[in-house]
Amino acid sequence: MLHFMHMSKIVIANWKMNPSSPVEARKIYTAIKKGAAKVKGVDTYVCPPFVFLPELAKIGTSRKVGLGVQDSFYEETGAFTGQVSPEMVAGYKAKIAIVGHSERRAMGEDNTLVGRKVRHVIEEGITAVLCVGESERTEEGDYYKFIREEIEVALAGVKRNDLKKLIVAYEPIWAIGKRAEEALNPEALYEMMLFIRKVLIERYGRAPALKVPILYGGSVKGSNAREFIEEGGVDGLLVGGASLKPEEFIEIVKSAA
Ligand code: PGA
Repeated sequence: MLHFMHMSKIVIANWKMNPSSPVEARKIYTAIKKGAAKVKGVDTYVCPPFVFLPELAKIGTSRKVGLGVQDSFYEETGAFTGQVSPEMVAGYKAKIAIVGHSERRAMGEDNTLVGRKVRHVIEEGITAVLCVGESERTEEGDYYKFIREEIEVALAGVKRNDLKKLIVAYEPIWAIGKRAEEALNPEALYEMMLFIRKVLIERYGRAPALKVPILYGGSVKGSNAREFIEEGGVDGLLVGGASLKPEEFIEIVKSAA
């Protein structure tokens, strides 16, 4: 049995650089908070742009619906123009931080930098959502090697005891921001989920590794969410585009239950 043994599934909204106004952000969050609160067996998190976090923290969080951020820097304070640290967001109820998203890696983040961020997030008591994913699938299957390296380097300084503050999100880059039909198929997801689990077990041992939730992201919609959980065997979902549409996002949260 290589499945994670946690009761609740996890669904994370990654709003990316959306919406354009605080009014809109409040509206979407309020709708999600209300809808997701009714769904049993799922922990939902919303990761808005930093600037909206204090606004949404004012609206509040609950046991079922929490807040997070889309990135996090590896120092607490200092001469790092434009950066935001986990210490800063902790005061605004951020419980999770997405780290190493492919859109940030495309702007120059490498595995070593991602690893520093992961460590610092965890040190601050925030759960790091480490994103990994290949940009293409070749017949030789060398994307497995690529994913292994992304995980091993990013977790270099992460100890067994830190694993309760870690989530791994598998997001194949080629499947992000597409139509539902272009997402990864659930059988392929199942294989990758097992592989990621194996890499974690090799590094940390079975019991601690089984406690790390593995999520899927990449064109998750209301129409395909259930199959990733049921057939893909993942512990939750990381949702981009569809997380800005409260009705569809709630449908996804329900599918995960
Ligand atoms: P998507 O984005 O759901 O719009 O494909 C997922 C992500 O990039 O986290």
